[in-house]
Amino acid sequence: MKSLVKVMELSEKSRTASGTREVQRNFIEHLNLTLGKDVKNSTNWDKFYALALLVKDRVVERWLRTQKKYYSKDDIKRVYYLSMEFLIGRLLYNNLLNLKLEDEVKKAIEEIGLNLDDLSELEPDAGLGNGGLGRLAACFLDSIATLGYPGYGYGIRYEYGIFKQVIENGFQKELPDDWLKNGNPWEIERKDRTVKVRFYGRTESYTDDNGNLRFRWVDTTDVLAVPYDTPVIGYGNNVANTLRLWSAKAIHEFDFDNFQRGNYVKSMEAKAIAEAISKVLYPNDAFYAGRELRIKQEYFFVSASLQDIIRRFKAQFGNRFYLFPQKNVIQLNDTHPALAIPELMRILLDEEGLGWEKAWDITTKTFAYTNHTVMPEALEKWEVQLFEKLLPRHLEIIYEINARFLNKVSEMFPGDLNKIRNVSIFEEGNIKQVRMANLSVIGSYSVNGVSRLHTDILKEKVFKDFYEIWPEKFNNKTNGITQRRWLLQCNPELSKLITEAIGDSWILDLERLKDLENFVEDKTFLEKFYEIKHANKKKLAKYVEEHLDISLDPYSIFDVQIKRLHEYKRQLLNVMHIIYLYNLLKENPSLDIHPRTFIFGAKAAPGYKMAKLIIKLINSVADVVNKDPLINKKLKVVFIPNYNVSLAEKIIPAANVSEQISTAGKEASGTGNMKLALNGALTIGTLDGANVEIKERVGDENIFIFGLTAEQVYRMKESQLYNPYDIYNSNEQIRKILNMINEGYFNPENPDLFKDIFQSILFGINGGQPDEYMLLADFDSYKNTQKKIDALYREKYEWNKKALLNVARVGVFSSDRTIKEYAENIWKTKTV
Ligand SMILES: *Cc1c(COP(=O)(O)O)cnc(C)c1O
Repeated sequence: MKSLVKVMELSEKSRTASGTREVQRNFIEHLNLTLGKDVKNSTNWDKFYALALLVKDRVVERWLRTQKKYYSKDDIKRVYYLSMEFLIGRLLYNNLLNLKLEDEVKKAIEEIGLNLDDLSELEPDAGLGNGGLGRLAACFLDSIATLGYPGYGYGIRYEYGIFKQVIENGFQKELPDDWLKNGNPWEIERKDRTVKVRFYGRTESYTDDNGNLRFRWVDTTDVLAVPYDTPVIGYGNNVANTLRLWSAKAIHEFDFDNFQRGNYVKSMEAKAIAEAISKVLYPNDAFYAGRELRIKQEYFFVSASLQDIIRRFKAQFGNRFYLFPQKNVIQLNDTHPALAIPELMRILLDEEGLGWEKAWDITTKTFAYTNHTVMPEALEKWEVQLFEKLLPRHLEIIYEINARFLNKVSEMFPGDLNKIRNVSIFEEGNIKQVRMANLSVIGSYSVNGVSRLHTDILKEKVFKDFYEIWPEKFNNKTNGITQRRWLLQCNPELSKLITEAIGDSWILDLERLKDLENFVEDKTFLEKFYEIKHANKKKLAKYVEEHLDISLDPYSIFDVQIKRLHEYKRQLLNVMHIIYLYNLLKENPSLDIHPRTFIFGAKAAPGYKMAKLIIKLINSVADVVNKDPLINKKLKVVFIPNYNVSLAEKIIPAANVSEQISTAGKEASGTGNMKLALNGALTIGTLDGANVEIKERVGDENIFIFGLTAEQVYRMKESQLYNPYDIYNSNEQIRKILNMINEGYFNPENPDLFKDIFQSILFGINGGQPDEYMLLADFDSYKNTQKKIDALYREKYEWNKKALLNVARVGVFSSDRTIKEYAENIWKTKTV
């Protein structure tokens, strides 16, 4: 045994020894021994794969050590981050940077004629999320590992991530994201940790050996959950945490009876149904569509994760479940994993034999819930009928949770039937539904919003009745982003300039960027700062030229709106302003405006008709503008297809203007706003989400705020005073813009195409209010603020000063700060 340990240590040394020669040797070894290729017949993909594997080698021993350390201590509290989405992006560069191996590996492979950037571009994005919510989960994993907290991410290993968007004739088309087709070098399958997940069936009661009435869930249909682990590497600290993603696998490859009877294809049906659970990510962002497969996905990963968490707990603490909340905290990323609450109750009651009071006490000291949206169409509500069919025992438990809770509420607020109706987990009516948000609030000890404004709205509006019952449960955790990916990795030149000026402590403590304020009067520094932005713009222009055959002027203002396409995010307001400028230039081609390039990136949910129509409008306007020789020296419009993490990393360093123009009160936080400001873009935005806090940090004079406040929007809607038709009638510019959209100016071959946009603004469609998102109310304010941007950009020195002050002052929006707040105020956990 001793000798085996020695051999292992030796092989570890040779595997992980640093130095150019070792890297090259490991590279060739993987190419030869793992992939069975020699250098000559290997493809670029093989080379990427061999490189990723040699990086993984250097991760694995850190991983084993980190996990061993967690097991060796019984005074640590583990954090479990449950999320349906992890929008990770690529890992090669990120892992190299966090391991501080970038320079060494780059040099080693350059010597053998390979280019790190080129190989890195071959890696498919891990696109296991839709947008902000999923990217937040990925940033959090980076910060948890970097700060050294004992954290685990749990989610689903979707075989197909967010669809690939292509644009055909201006329309979005979706292609499957087959990201695993050539293998995934980062994951390790852990068959030995496979668990069984049950569905359907029925419940029955029985009396146990001690004479207690108990319940059990029987006659279920079962599926296997197989975990795949991806190491999450902390920056420069040798920590490797785990992201565990579950894949669904049928218990039987085929049904034997059918197979015997010659029904060959039929015998495979059950397998296909079982394995559909982890097949594909639902592509909706902030929208709920009550599908059976979706709730199956939710229960599937929640049940597998809880079994894993409890196995780990029992290995250390046996049946001492009273210790459970001291040793574990489970953070629910939105309501998607909320079934964990009744599932933990079911395990404690039915499998571990605890009484209700004890089980409920443990459960409500374990869960914490993060709310991500106040939009009613995004709130998950499952039909009781469907719920009962799929999870009969959980429904019984939820009825009991609700009955006990409502009893307490009636004692606290006698006769307040309205309150009872609002806080009940069940929504009565034609179709009775289970409200997952209410279940989450009732079953958690902490409820947090993701920006100060958003949390205030939760307290005052959405969860007002709960706030009156439990004011102490509610707290704010303003979102953040990891500077390792969103500055160090994506903007190496700016990173270098910053480090030369103030040192590299910002990589682990972003507020140190404050020291850059000493350079705002330093003309040579500002010139270098400008030159880096300019070089990043040229690089993006090259990408656009190569991929879209549109040439961009790097001296123009790069005005960027990149985020999911959603009516509340108001890409349409941006387009209206572009049409407004187009009309001004048509009337007066010599009009003195600084050239501007409007850059869009946005996926629309495949079933979201209006969002897809707005994508077509952007592309139609782009065609007209870009082809008009009178206009295209001053205006360009580019829609970059397939917006994802890797594209964000290319676009953000090149942005001058960051469009954060949602209807006030609708954007819970935003994180794109933070990434862009950190890279020296100036924000034009409403007082929504984290924009409010960004404004406080950067200073009123370094941000362009416009439009109605959330309170004003709320009052106008409440009083029904808002009438977009009056604005249309009285504002000639707005009327002209809307008429052009309506009459097919941008799409003469099918002039009716955009009628629904016009209809929806002036009259409302599909039961919506006219101009639901207050575009016309904010248009003048937006347009006037854009004019100030135009003026300021000509003052190169002033502009760059403000841009640098943005970089210097947004350090607070690091996800390291967010995670420290979660750890100290919610999780009560310490670093190991
Ligand atoms: C940061 C990010 C988002 C979130 O952007 P918002 O502007 O906050 O909505 C969405 N998608 C990707 C790929 C991102 O990197």
